[in-house]
Order: sequence, then structure tokens, then C-alpha cells
Amino acid sequence: MFNSILINKVDSDYQVEMTEIDESSLPEGDVTVDVQYSSLNYKDALAITGKSPVVRRFPMIPGIDFVGTVAESSHPEFTVGMPVILNGWGVGEVHMGGFAQKAKVNGDWLVPLPSSFDAKQAMAIGTAGYTAMLCVLALEKNDVTPDKGTILVTGASGGVGSVAVAILSKLGYQVVALTGRPEESEYVTSLGAAEIIDRSELSEPGRALAKERWAGVVDVVGSHVLANACASTNYGGVVTACGLAGGMDFPATVAPFILRGVSLIGIDSVMCPKAARIEAWRRLGEDLDLTKLGSIAHEVGLSKTIEAAEDLLADKIRGRVVVDVNL
Ligand code: NDP
Repeated sequence: MFNSILINKVDSDYQVEMTEIDESSLPEGDVTVDVQYSSLNYKDALAITGKSPVVRRFPMIPGIDFVGTVAESSHPEFTVGMPVILNGWGVGEVHMGGFAQKAKVNGDWLVPLPSSFDAKQAMAIGTAGYTAMLCVLALEKNDVTPDKGTILVTGASGGVGSVAVAILSKLGYQVVALTGRPEESEYVTSLGAAEIIDRSELSEPGRALAKERWAGVVDVVGSHVLANACASTNYGGVVTACGLAGGMDFPATVAPFILRGVSLIGIDSVMCPKAARIEAWRRLGEDLDLTKLGSIAHEVGLSKTIEAAEDLLADKIRGRVVVDVNL
């Protein structure tokens, strides 16, 4: 028996509790992992609160990522005792997830924990940080170098935003950070933002084309913020879209794309191919100042995860939440 957060749905009654479950309740998988840490991502908060239909099979242990050591394996790449990371692949949605002391998964989904991090640092970064790195890699791949101009990061005091600001500033980009929390300006500046702008500047319906302001964008918000970010992107600039914290809609026109050659690139961390994941984690080891993780992340025990999920959706959490599943 081991501790887990368990979500159940009985008719329309959505139930979430911390409870003990038996290892036989875990799904098929060729690698069993003793989980050390998971982390609370936006999607986990939606799953726990039931605010969006993230969970598609019940009962479900939420938690879209985890780090731990291999306890049993019949997979050729993984042996007992190896430290591993998991991000996505439907874990915590259709396959039992990381908010538990044990997980059983397909070994093809696992990535060895890079030597640059300890287990807790890996989850301080978590899926949010790895997604931030995927956005930065997409900017680089599309020739958005630091000399091209500033980069806008939206939702800057959240998980993806905080890590994106920290990576981009270390790489020498000038970062403009959009936040709805002026009280977090000092924090976002400490991560490396050169300028802070208020969320209200971009969150209302805007013009099809606006003054050119940035060479690249990391957007976690969607909706009007994404539309306005595209409308203000420089000629030939690149917008990476990974989130929907402000809405799933995209009330934009094609003007930035057809008149300014702006590119809009979608970023998905869940089904991202393994080689790209390994590269993202390798680059995190090089291009994220790990000393910043101390201010980006704070830790909670498994029992506090349900409460923290409510806070995350209420925009009360700064940066990242590491979940110690053994607390
Ligand atoms: P967080 O909740 O940590 O951060 C989201 C931030 O967005 C908040 O901190 C806030 O920043 C801003 N925000 C919140 N609500 C609104 C709103 N109504 N309008 C405008 N801004 C808002 O979440 P994460 O950083 O972990 O995730 C961000 C988004 O990225 C989510 O939608 C998530 O689902 C998505 N995501 C996608 C992935 C993918 O594979 N594509 C992977 C990981 C995350 P501030 O207060 O500074 O304005």
C-alpha cells in the first residue's frame, strides 16, 4: 500500500482525496518507479478541481510529471536504481500519475535524470520548465537570436513564465514580462526581466496590427493576449503558443502572418518526441541558472496538493510547486 491523491467520478459527483492504494491498482507498464517528487502544473490543478475534463479515466491518480528511481524494470534502457523523469504522455490524465509514492509506466516514456540536476531541482523545473525550454528552442530554431530584439513572456510570474524569463535572460535576450500581479514585479525582475508590463495592456480586444514591439513571444495565456502579442510582433518575428491560462480562444486576424511574415508556432510537451525531450532537459542543464530555482519553486507535501491546486487556478501561486510525495 502507498499514499496517493485519487480522483473518482461517481455519476456527476467529482471526488478527490488523499488515500492509500494497493500496487495492484497501478496500470500495465514495464517500469515501476519509486516516486520522490512530482510537481503541480496548471493541468494538474484543472484535473484536481475538475474545472476542465483533463481526467479521462477513473479512478485516476493525477500528476503529469514525476522524478524517482527505478524499482523494477523489464525495459532494456532502465535498471533498478536509475533516476528517471517523466513528463506527459497522458500520465495523470488516462494513465495513473505522479501524485503517489509509486508509478508504473511504459519505459519508452522515461528520460534519464540528467546529471546536472538533483531530483528536487528536476521537479522545481517540471513540465512547466521543460515546456518553457521547448518554447526557447523553437525561437532559436527560427533564428530569433538575442540581437533581433526583445522577447515577450506572458504569465510571467507563473510556472512556464518564470522559467522562460530565467532561461531567456541567461541566454542574453532582453525580456519584456507581462504580468497581472504588479506585486510580483520585483520577483520577475530578479529572474532577469528587463521590463514589466501590466496584463491589461494586452488582455482587451485589440487592433489587427499594432506597433511592432518584440522579435519573439513565449505565450502561456492564449485568447486576447495571444492575439495582441501576434499583432505587436516585429516583421518576421516568431510567437510560440503553449498555454490557455486566459482562455482557449484565439480572437485574432491573419494580418500579422500575411503582412508581417510573423510565425505562430504551437508547443506541445505531452507527446513531444523523446529526442526533443532529451535535448530540452540537456539545455535546461546548461541555460537555466539553478540558483534561481530557490525563488521560483516552493515545496508542499502530498496532503497539501489539493489546496494548492485551488490556489494555482486562483492565480495565487508564484512560480512552481514541488510536491514531496513522501511527506
Ligand atoms: P501557472 O498557473 O503557474 O501560470 C499561469 C500564469 O498565467 C499565471 O501565473 C498568471 O501570470 C497568468 N494568468 C493566469 N490567469 C490569467 C488570465 N485569466 N489572463 C491572463 N493571464 C493569466 O501555469 P503554468 O505556467 O504551469 O502553465 C501556463 C499555461 O501553459 C497553462 O495554460 C498550461 O496548461 C500551459 N502548459 C502547456 C503545456 C504544453 O505542453 N503546451 C505544458 C505546460 C503548461 P501573471 O499573474 O504573472 O499574469
